[in-house]
Amino acid sequence: TTQTADRATAATVEFRSLRREFGATVALDGLDLAVRPGEFLALLGPSGCGKTTALRMLAGFEHPTSGEVLVDGEDVTRVPAHRRDAGMVFQSYSLFPHLSALDNVAFGLRMRKVRTAERRSRAAELLELVGLADKGERYPHELSGGQQQRVALARALALRPRVLLLDEPLSALDAKVRLTLREEIRRLQRELGITTLFVTHDQEEALSIADRVAVMRAGRLEQCAAPAELYGRPATAFVAEFVGTMSRIPGRLDGGTVEVLGQRLPVDGDVPAARDVDVLVRPEAVLVRADEDGTARVAATSFLGAAVRVMVRLGDGTEVKADVPAHEGAALGLGAGVRVSLPERAVLVAERRGE
Ligand code: ATP
Repeated sequence: TTQTADRATAATVEFRSLRREFGATVALDGLDLAVRPGEFLALLGPSGCGKTTALRMLAGFEHPTSGEVLVDGEDVTRVPAHRRDAGMVFQSYSLFPHLSALDNVAFGLRMRKVRTAERRSRAAELLELVGLADKGERYPHELSGGQQQRVALARALALRPRVLLLDEPLSALDAKVRLTLREEIRRLQRELGITTLFVTHDQEEALSIADRVAVMRAGRLEQCAAPAELYGRPATAFVAEFVGTMSRIPGRLDGGTVEVLGQRLPVDGDVPAARDVDVLVRPEAVLVRADEDGTARVAATSFLGAAVRVMVRLGDGTEVKADVPAHEGAALGLGAGVRVSLPERAVLVAERRGE
């Protein structure tokens, strides 16, 4: 298939000890990351952690204070942006307002002196690829946000770039369009087999679209792993809390166990020194049952569809989120007394916050 053919020629990308300072601000603090050929990699992290700076460095719009950027093993750190072969799509649609959709897509080809007939047919092909075959003559203001972003995508692909860089391309779109376009970007990327970096601060988006997710924090890489691994085996407490909604419950580590909510649960790995810790647990792992004598109370509930997310307030004020099947949720009304328990092996232990 064309997919394998393309994949064989897809580029690798590598960031080596990338550092970028803006005055006193350290945007990147020694970023190391290798992207595989044909991979769809999401850069995920809170605002200001350096995602955009890393992407701009790969595009050549930004230069490192130190460190290197390699594409296919070649050091491109000092190669100017126009010779980097990167196609980029931004959050704002950034189309040329005075050009039709077709001419927007053909623009780069015109700059490269591709003949008129050829660039028009190539631009038309790309518009078809993004599902806008019949919108070529429209101007940006005559297109919806989602359609404009499709045009931007087609334009980014027109020069057959070695890497595709997407900087929060879905953030400005409404929820429904966002989901459709997300699926479509993924399908297109698979078809073309093009190595892709996708910046987002939305964990759900990152987990659903990427082959691997690189979680960044304060200019560094926390963990880079496949979505299931990141979710199931977060390497740090930061990843655990950022990816997924975890509750923090005070506990006490002692020997090979942690004492939490009146239970004693085994802890994997070395036996650490006894101390107060926080126990992190995901809502789907927490068990809640109605108990009139329970000191914990239901403080809020929200309907998620198949499940109800119940916010439980413990006697000491700690809040614990639990997802219960919708049919059980009915018995857990606001203010109801409950008992909370945790299954073995569903918890992570983190240092007590603030200590
Ligand atoms: P966001 O999701 O908010 O876009 P980000 O993770 O993409 O955040 P960056 O845009 O890479 O973060 O910024 C990283 C840090 O570097 C921030 O503290 C930012 O203020 C700073 N920074 C980025 N570009 C510049 C610049 N041109 N001049 C000064 N500071 C900058």
